[in-house]
Amino acid sequence: MPARVIDGKAVSDTRRAALAEQVQALLARSLQPCLAAVTVRPDHGWALYLRNQAAACAALGIRHRVVELPAGASQGELIEAIETLNLDPAVHGIILQGPLAAPGSDFNELQAQAQLSPDKDVEGVNPANLGLLLAGRQALAPCTALSAVALAQAGFAALGRADLTGVEACVVGASTIVGKPIAQLLLAAGATVTVCHVHTRDLSAHTRAAELLVVAVGKAGLIRREHIKPGAVVVDVGINRRQLADGRTETVGDVAPEVAEVAAALTPVPGGVGSLTTTILLESTVT
Ligand code: NAP
Repeated sequence: MPARVIDGKAVSDTRRAALAEQVQALLARSLQPCLAAVTVRPDHGWALYLRNQAAACAALGIRHRVVELPAGASQGELIEAIETLNLDPAVHGIILQGPLAAPGSDFNELQAQAQLSPDKDVEGVNPANLGLLLAGRQALAPCTALSAVALAQAGFAALGRADLTGVEACVVGASTIVGKPIAQLLLAAGATVTVCHVHTRDLSAHTRAAELLVVAVGKAGLIRREHIKPGAVVVDVGINRRQLADGRTETVGDVAPEVAEVAAALTPVPGGVGSLTTTILLESTVT
């Protein structure tokens, strides 16, 4: 039987409806949540992303501000822009629309993240928030990680499992804002977690032992049938764009389609983790 599809869009729609009620309650008290996006290199990709972010905010009644630094802006100007937003009581969430540290750029992304007020750090990238995550007491955590874990929970719930307590989980990918936070959130949920990375010697030995496999690498087709424990729940965080023979591009995850024949439940790409991430960003703004 092919794997159940864990529908990120459906989970997102349900959570957005609840969020809309929360925003209405705040508006009734004359409080309008506001998300500010700081961008330093507004190329086409980010412009589209920002437009989508603005539309999602508008649909809920959240204010959206874009602070666009000019080409050639310095680290000092970036820090100043962040500081102004930190001090502005009308701004509740700040997102650094990156990546700031691109080849040829002088921006120090870590320093900029550290400058964010921890209370307004809706992406959970400030070291104080990452530290709280490590302590299992997070208020704001990286949105992609929260999305991946929410869909893992949805996948287990669909199979009749109440929660992730005691689940054998494997996370492939160990970046600071995706893989490691996913592992921490799973630990906090009571799972036993193995984290794999580029130096892992025998990847399938770890992935095949997992009832829950979360993959966040950025390599199309990395995870194949032989990596999967039959009946596992698989969450595919990867986003890879591939050029098709006819010139069009398609977006695929890190998990090969054949995995659907062995797994019990699987997140699609697109339509999985990415579909819930913006909703979680807006939830964090309201938080
Ligand atoms: P990243 O910073 O490049 O990290 C990739 C991680 O994968 C690293 O920990 C790396 O190991 C590990 N890795 C690389 N090759 C591997 C291999 N062959 N086997 C096992 N591990 C391997 O990427 P990221 O920012 O974490 O993003 C990961 C993926 O998630 C990307 O496809 C990205 O586009 C996607 N993403 C999706 C969303 C969403 O909303 N759905 C949001 C953000 C990112 P080392 O640490 O040892 O180098």
